[in-house]
Amino acid sequence: MEKPLIPGLEIPVRNIYCIGRNYASHAKELGNRVPKIPLVFLKPLGTISYDGATIELPKQSSDVHFEAEIVLAINKSGKNISPASVEEHIGGVGVGIDFTARDIQSISKKQGQPWTIAKGFDNFAPISSFTQLKQDQDLSDIDIKLFQNGFVKQHGNSSEMIFPIPNLITFLSQLFTLQPGDLIFTGTPEGVGKVSSGDKLEVLLNNGEQSLNVTIA
Ligand code: ZN
Repeated sequence: MEKPLIPGLEIPVRNIYCIGRNYASHAKELGNRVPKIPLVFLKPLGTISYDGATIELPKQSSDVHFEAEIVLAINKSGKNISPASVEEHIGGVGVGIDFTARDIQSISKKQGQPWTIAKGFDNFAPISSFTQLKQDQDLSDIDIKLFQNGFVKQHGNSSEMIFPIPNLITFLSQLFTLQPGDLIFTGTPEGVGKVSSGDKLEVLLNNGEQSLNVTIA
């Protein structure tokens, strides 16, 4: 299989880093404590899908949730990136959905197991196209909204993040050399919910700068 490309940048996806519980309001709605350091997990490459995708619900779950997230695409490699220079490493900003089989994740949490299965089904990470940062881009004012069948269910802004975007990139780059093609899902605001067959989901970056539409099969 060809490696999936990042729309707008047209480079292959390399790693899909995800941050959990990065909005206090969402940590609270799931009864989780606010973390002291970022919670990091990965999604497999097969989760990547695109605007217009149809998402099949896995038969192993009866409680798949949407999690709308601001997604960053790295286009310049770096280790120990300082917060002041993170913008040089960001090739673009887009939106994505971190689909999660919540019932499977709950069992994994109880058993102290990783979330790979709950987060990793095929097409479970649809992404929009990515826009390059503007000259004076304010990384602490990026807006995201998710509509389920036309109704707003999630509305967040990067200003509400527990770990702001520069800190996330600095943190990850102290652990792993970030490389062109790495994606970072930056966590979901409150309002996550269950999807059903036939649902139409739309996610907007900054009220329509980028949009992502998917259908649940
Ligand atoms: Zn998430």
